[in-house]
Amino acid sequence: MTIDLSEEQRAFASALADFCKRETGTRQQRDELTDGGRHAHHQGLYQKMADLGWLGVTIPEQYGGAGGGMVDTCLLLEHIGYGLVPVGGFATSAIVAGAVERFGTAAQRQTVLGGVAMGRTYAIAMSEPGAGSDVAALACRAAPGPDGGFVINGQKTWCSNAHIADAILLVARTAGKPGDHDGLSMFLVPADAAGLRINGINTMGGREVNDLYFTDCSVSADAVVGQVDAGWRQLMAGLNLERLILAGLMLGTARRAFDDTLGYVRERKQFGRPIGTFQVLRHRIADLATEIECCRLLVYHTARQIDRDPSRVLPRESSMVKLKTTEVAREVALAGMQMMGGYGYATEYDMERHVRATLISTVYGGTSEIQRDIIGKTYGL
Ligand SMILES: Cc1cc2nc3c(=O)[nH]c(=O)nc-3n(C[C@H](O)[C@H](O)[C@H](O)COP(=O)(O)OP(=O)(O)OC[C@H]3O[C@@H](n4cnc5c(N)ncnc54)[C@H](O)[C@@H]3O)c2cc1C
Repeated sequence: MTIDLSEEQRAFASALADFCKRETGTRQQRDELTDGGRHAHHQGLYQKMADLGWLGVTIPEQYGGAGGGMVDTCLLLEHIGYGLVPVGGFATSAIVAGAVERFGTAAQRQTVLGGVAMGRTYAIAMSEPGAGSDVAALACRAAPGPDGGFVINGQKTWCSNAHIADAILLVARTAGKPGDHDGLSMFLVPADAAGLRINGINTMGGREVNDLYFTDCSVSADAVVGQVDAGWRQLMAGLNLERLILAGLMLGTARRAFDDTLGYVRERKQFGRPIGTFQVLRHRIADLATEIECCRLLVYHTARQIDRDPSRVLPRESSMVKLKTTEVAREVALAGMQMMGGYGYATEYDMERHVRATLISTVYGGTSEIQRDIIGKTYGL
C-alpha cells in the first residue's frame, strides 16, 4: 500500500533510503558505528544528517530548519528505524524541540531549535524512582533561589540520552505535593551544570538511559520553559508529538524485523523446502504484513491530522498509534525470532536486537496499559 506523499516527500524518502544503504547497509558498518551494539548514538553520523538538513526537518526555517511537518518527521523516523541508524539522540531532541517551540522564549528557541538543526542532542527528564506511570507523583523540587533563579534537589531516572545531551528539559515540582498536577514546571538545565550528576544505567539495550542526581543545582530564571507551575498542561500539549515520534521509529523497526524474517524463511530449507512455504509460517507472515500496514496507515493518518492543526491535542489517536505500533513491532520481532529458530537468538543476526528494541518500546513514553487507560477514558469510561 502506498502512502499519499508529495513529490518532495517522495524525494526525501528516497534520499533517506540511499543514505541508510550507504552508511548502515552492512552489519560491519553498524557494528563499527555502535561499538558492536553497545552505543545507540553515533555523533559523526548524526552530524552528517544534520549537515544534510534532516535533523531540522520540522524546525522552522528561521532557526535553520526545513519547516516541514510530522509526515516528514515520520518518514525520517521510519527510515532511521528500518535502517538501524544509530542516532538514538534524535527522538528526545525532537520531543524537547517541540516543547521549546511551543513554550520557550525567543532565546531558548534560538538555542534549542537551532541546536537540533545543527546536530545537538537534548534529553527530557520526568520519571523518578517513585514516579513512573504516575508522573504527577514526581518529587524532585525546584525552590526559589537568588536573583529569581531556582535551586534543584532530587533524583530523576531513566533519562534517555542525558549523557550525550547539551541540556536536559527537566520537569520539577515548584509548588504543591507529590500527586498534584498543579505545581510542576519545566527547566532547561545544561547537562554540565554544577550540582548535576549523570550516572549510566546498564540495560539490555546498551548505553542509553541514565540516573540524574540534583544536589543544590542552581539555574537562573531564564532556565524556566513556559510558565512556572504550568508544567502539567505543557506536558499534555506535547503528547501528540512524543507518542507519534516513538510510533514512527517503531514502524521502521517492525518493517525491518519483518523483512529480515521474510528473507530468512525464503532461504532456510527444512524437509526439502523453504520453511516459508509451510502454511503455518506463510499465514503468520501474512498476518504480520497486514498488521504492519495497519500501523503505517495509522502513523501517517495521525501525522496528517497533526499537520492540519498542530495546536489540537489528540489523546485518543496519539495513544492508539503508540499502543498499536509498539505492540505490533514487538509481535513481529518475537514472531521473527521464532521463525528463525535458534538463529534468531544468535547475535550474528539482527533479530535478537529487534527483540530487545521492541520489548521496551511498550514501556517507555507511557506503557501499553496506560495508553489503553487513556483511550478508554476518551470513551467516557
Ligand atoms: C529505555 C527507557 C527509556 C526511557 N526514557 C525516558 C526519558 O527519556 N525520560 C523520562 O522521563 N522517562 C523515561 N523512561 C521512563 C518510562 O517512561 C517509564 O519507565 C514508564 O513510564 C513506566 O514507569 P515505571 O518504569 O516506573 O513503571 P511503573 O509505573 O511502576 O509500572 C509498572 C507496571 O505497572 C503498570 N501500571 C502502572 N500503573 C498502572 C495503572 N494505573 N493501570 C494499569 N497498569 C498500571 C505499568 O503499565 C507497568 O506494567 C524510560 C524508560 C525506559 C525503560
